[in-house]
Amino acid sequence: MGIGRREFLKKSAALTAASLVGINLKIKADGKLGVEEATAGENLAQIPEEVKRSPAYKKEGEYEWVRGVCRFCGTGCKVWLGLKNGKPAVIRGEKNSVINFGFLCMKGMLFYKLFRHPDRLTQPLYRKSKKEPFKPISWEKAFDIIADEMIKAIKKGEWGPMGWTGIAYYGSGQALTEETYLFQKFWRCLGSNHVEGNPRLCMASAVGGYLTSFGTDEPAGGYADFEEADTIFIIGSNTAECHPILYRRIMRRKLSNPKEVMVINVDPRVSPTSKIADIHLQFKPGTDLALLNAIANVIIQEGLYDKEFVEKYCSFHKFTKGKDKVPLIGHQVSFEEYKEFVSKYTPEYAAEVCGGNVTPELIRKVARRFATTKTVSIWTMGLNQRTRGVWVNNLVTNLHLLTGNLGKDGADALSLTGQPNACGGVREGGGLCHILPGHRVVKNPKHRAELEKIWGVPKGTIPPKPGYHTVKMFSAISYTEEDKKRFPGLKPIYFIWVNETSPLQSLPNMRRFREGFARDDVFVVVTDIFPTRTSELANMILPCAFHFEKTGVYGCTERRSQLTPKAVKAPGQAMPELWMLVQLGQVLAKKLRKERDPKLRARAKTIYQCVAPFIEAAKRDPWWELSKKVWEEYAQRVTKGRDSTLAGATYEVLLERPDGVQWPAPTVEIARKGGTLRRFVVGKDPLATEFAKKHGLTDWKIIDYGHLHKDHKFWIWLRPYKGPAEPPDAEYPFYLSTGRVIDHWHTGSMTGRIRELAGDYPHTWIEINPKDAQRLGIQPGDLVLLETRRGRNILPARISTEEGPMEGMVFVYWYDQSKDRMINFCTIDAFDPGSKQPEFKICACRIKKYAPAKPLKQFLVKLEKVSGGYLHNSEIDKSQKHPV
Ligand code: SF4
Repeated sequence: MGIGRREFLKKSAALTAASLVGINLKIKADGKLGVEEATAGENLAQIPEEVKRSPAYKKEGEYEWVRGVCRFCGTGCKVWLGLKNGKPAVIRGEKNSVINFGFLCMKGMLFYKLFRHPDRLTQPLYRKSKKEPFKPISWEKAFDIIADEMIKAIKKGEWGPMGWTGIAYYGSGQALTEETYLFQKFWRCLGSNHVEGNPRLCMASAVGGYLTSFGTDEPAGGYADFEEADTIFIIGSNTAECHPILYRRIMRRKLSNPKEVMVINVDPRVSPTSKIADIHLQFKPGTDLALLNAIANVIIQEGLYDKEFVEKYCSFHKFTKGKDKVPLIGHQVSFEEYKEFVSKYTPEYAAEVCGGNVTPELIRKVARRFATTKTVSIWTMGLNQRTRGVWVNNLVTNLHLLTGNLGKDGADALSLTGQPNACGGVREGGGLCHILPGHRVVKNPKHRAELEKIWGVPKGTIPPKPGYHTVKMFSAISYTEEDKKRFPGLKPIYFIWVNETSPLQSLPNMRRFREGFARDDVFVVVTDIFPTRTSELANMILPCAFHFEKTGVYGCTERRSQLTPKAVKAPGQAMPELWMLVQLGQVLAKKLRKERDPKLRARAKTIYQCVAPFIEAAKRDPWWELSKKVWEEYAQRVTKGRDSTLAGATYEVLLERPDGVQWPAPTVEIARKGGTLRRFVVGKDPLATEFAKKHGLTDWKIIDYGHLHKDHKFWIWLRPYKGPAEPPDAEYPFYLSTGRVIDHWHTGSMTGRIRELAGDYPHTWIEINPKDAQRLGIQPGDLVLLETRRGRNILPARISTEEGPMEGMVFVYWYDQSKDRMINFCTIDAFDPGSKQPEFKICACRIKKYAPAKPLKQFLVKLEKVSGGYLHNSEIDKSQKHPV
């Protein structure tokens, strides 16, 4: 490690200032500036005329600047990409953005280095068998083969209520909204609900939480609440590293009011986030359900709850298996029943369950603070990646509802999104197996009919039953006896298209999934900008355009959509996915017309109809006009009349605004003002105002108009404490938890290629508590063998007295691509029964010293020229070949 984590964080904080003024960075990693990637003679600037005429473009001296949004996390920082003499040369923050106020973290400042990176994928590559090298092919040939393979897979599979069982799409919270929208439309029109995406791994439990608490997805407030809050309750989130610009705002709030503002951190690990906490509650992983119920109990027992808010705006609900039909609804109970339910969670009981440093006094202190001040809660994977992720989401929101900490300045229950477009693209764009765009659901016939009408396809085009969720989808690919036993009635999948994500590094317990992908009877298409641990098991690799090389919208955590226009010429033959889909749709339609099976032949029409509105735009201008056309259909037609309406957020408006538009934004007039910051509040949210009028709720200040809540109230849920799926035991005595570092983004395929980021963290580490390390004779840097019931890793030890996990727990970062250090060989694929999100955050493991410290190298998957074509280095190098 070049520098310590603390120094790195300090450096990162200091550099945010540099980003504000647009200083081209001279970060000491290898002593070089690193702009040589963009020094070739070619002028790479390609800026649409409409953008040039808008406020999203400016010229300053030898720089041309184009405004968009950061490519990485779900914060949604607004950036200006600077092109010097036609070369991407710098990124700086937008000062007028209400998100980042001009500041950026290092990832945001440095992604311009990827535009002309030598590892970029630049031509379509194909191989019939995964044992052969890839050969370059034309786009025409690629679409021809994909269409044939899709039809083959459809025929090998079955037709059923979820549609064709043999084909699947797996997308990403990093794809643009237009892309997710069109991919899912394509799949539904072809007749399959096997549409999933990696947000299932990061925020599905938050969706379940909001759906049950609010009756509709996504938060009520936004980042602006940080500056008004007296208490910031951070639970299951290492905000300092995963959302550094939001952490900066929190830090600023705290440091400018050190006495008045309190930060409470709830996490089994001491992370950089804990450093500003006034109270850090450290507890055994998975016991937070008991803790949160105990806080609620104190609030009620001490009469600290907001009686008026609770009586007028809340109701209480419980789900009883066998009695209630719909888990999202359950049945209503009284306040007294809720009070009795939480009364079991005395601070003494919770302190005993939680362990760590949790005491009854601390629980009381936190409860009093929460109830008597304006509080914002934030959380991420620590709550979501759990087998009881939905419940624990509910329990945080319960505290807000009990104390009236919702719908006012400085009070909100805000789930932070990991990916830049998990909210806008996947949650709102219909990118999961059970949902449809515009907050619609597959199961609802009215919702399906509405979309079929908008799309101009026959009634019944969209199959009525949801497809497979992520773990089930990948189990249908591996399709072992164990998979069939686990999911009775499972039908195999023979074709999958993976877009802008690397599931064969990011899925839990992934060895079995990798084995499925490696088989030659599963045809795998991968669209990406770099080779990955997933492309190494592909048949077809399609090079796609990168951020700012194409046009589209990202929707971040706080219901905010922002446009990034094209500014840079894509390398080689790389193209936008929208263009690929429009081309493929036409090829597929032609082939389907010749099919004998009338059901299949009928899909020729629907798939053509799916892409027909975009064919001309794809011909004329796939970089700008095509995206605009798709957005118009999505925003102006599909979201119109829905609670997530972006009907007023045209490309013109999005180009104008320095910080995008928060939905609901039903009209251009509202969108021009930025949309709606405070959802559900009468007078501030146009939909709430209209709803109050329509239902005669004249004296209501806040209304839960979520479609699932017919009583128009927010719901407080009775959720008992339940521990993790695999707690430690005598054989595997440690908790294993996983997460990110500030330097790297997810699987590291992009940030691993930016020297200034990878220089500090070329490989992963296992964090061990000093007491455990001492007991096991492990020194800093020693190689440690980590084993779970599913796999093993060999990892260098990081032992710190300042940061790290509590005793009995280890923590591993998951960005490393080296076979021996990919921690998802070890994680568990048990998932939440409601959200279907796997429990990455907790499983049991054992560790022991493996070897003394030795220097380790970074490993990145790359393509190499071999006789007969191209192979990934991981396919050539035996030490990196799978399975472990
Ligand atoms: S905080 Fe997130 S969105 Fe902002 S610059 Fe960093 S990675 Fe980009």
